[in-house]
Amino acid sequence: MRGLSSVCVFCGANFGADPAYAEAAANFGQLVADRGLRLVYGGANVGLMGVIADAALASGGEVIGVLPEALVAREIGHPGITRLEVVPDMHTRKARMAELSDAFVALPGGIGTMEEIFEVWTWGQLGFHSKPVGLLNVGGYYDLLAGFFERAVRDQFLQQPHRDMLLVGSDSAALLDAFATYQPPTVEKWIGRAQL
Ligand code: AMP
Repeated sequence: MRGLSSVCVFCGANFGADPAYAEAAANFGQLVADRGLRLVYGGANVGLMGVIADAALASGGEVIGVLPEALVAREIGHPGITRLEVVPDMHTRKARMAELSDAFVALPGGIGTMEEIFEVWTWGQLGFHSKPVGLLNVGGYYDLLAGFFERAVRDQFLQQPHRDMLLVGSDSAALLDAFATYQPPTVEKWIGRAQL
């Protein structure tokens, strides 16, 4: 892949029950800025989204937010980021975030976060892009999901190389290092096509 200059973060619009989530988001935002990487995120000033943007800005980082018009009306846009791009709808937003980013990571979050990270992982599986995708597994938050992926591989709905495309780790710096050296697999998506 080309060099890593821009990282897209998906994360909760809530803070989560444990203060460790906000701490991890703040650390990740700071690290992204300290490494001279541009942060791309959903543009809101709520929950972990606001925390990561604030932390990156406080460390002198560049922060690009991409927000759909419908959410601007609810005044949740972050007023202090480097650039807030307002787009017509959620699909345009995700396409724009993908276009602006060299790598994607989900911090803890809810179904919005899941939907976003699963989509970019799926696009990678299909070979539509070759950018790294990862989960920052704060406090074991994603352990059950990782267990489910093992089941999906075992039951032959997911190939091991495609599972391995999703980098899962609890150490932010190690995850960013892994992004920088990421090599996408060359395996085809389709399982059992030879049997058709
Ligand atoms: P969730 O994980 O369900 O809290 O959703 C967070 C993800 O969905 C973020 O990465 C955002 O891109 C999007 N999202 C959900 N809620 C909001 C919101 N109130 N403002 C902006 N984006 C949101």
